[in-house]
Amino acid sequence: MRVGIMGGTFDPIHHGHLVAASEVADRFGLDQVVFVPTGEPWQKSGSAVSPAEDRYLMTVIATASNPRFQVSRVDIDRGGTTYTVDTLRDLRAAYGPEAELFFITGADALGKILSWKDAADLFELAHFVGVTRPGFDLSAEHLPADRVSLVQVPAMAISSTDCRRRVEEGKPVWYLVPDGVVQYIAKRSLYRKVDNI
Ligand code: ATP
Ligand code: MG
Repeated sequence: MRVGIMGGTFDPIHHGHLVAASEVADRFGLDQVVFVPTGEPWQKSGSAVSPAEDRYLMTVIATASNPRFQVSRVDIDRGGTTYTVDTLRDLRAAYGPEAELFFITGADALGKILSWKDAADLFELAHFVGVTRPGFDLSAEHLPADRVSLVQVPAMAISSTDCRRRVEEGKPVWYLVPDGVVQYIAKRSLYRKVDNI
């Protein structure tokens, strides 16, 4: 079993995430890609990151039509700040020692891996696949060469930050995120400035 893992805040999930996962799945012959929304950081107030359940449901809506895409609750159910090493340990336990794990990450995140918790262990738990992302240089010079691959994916100049800002400003996010996610954002009034008075 070859399993891709795509971790993210997914606030909201967008087509950049989906294209990256699809492209790596094709290139590496993956049986599945598991999307893993991060936990809700308890040190931040609710305004910084949307509630975990909203991010989880948007991820489910966005991936539901692809038979190879799954969504895991491990990081949400563990709670607190998410560390990738914990994600990988939980998924390794769930899929067993025979599974080959491929952790998919954009060029921006790949550049920071060595600062992650238990960085040395990460490369024993999974093979890392860095994907191109507009605005960031893709380089793995700082990482163990036999445990990291770089993959060129169709350029999607989309970020969740930009999607949130667009909704806040009343601009469209159609075609940046899946249709169901546009509708979910509206239904739950996500990313709108709330007048607390
Ligand atoms: P935010 O702006 O809130 O940080 P984001 O768009 O960066 O959101 P994340 O949930 O932080 O999305 O990213 C999850 C993973 O997806 C990271 O590995 C990130 O590098 C990757 N990723 C996000 N957007 C793209 C994109 N447009 N192309 C390629 N990879 C992406
Ligand atoms: Mg990001």
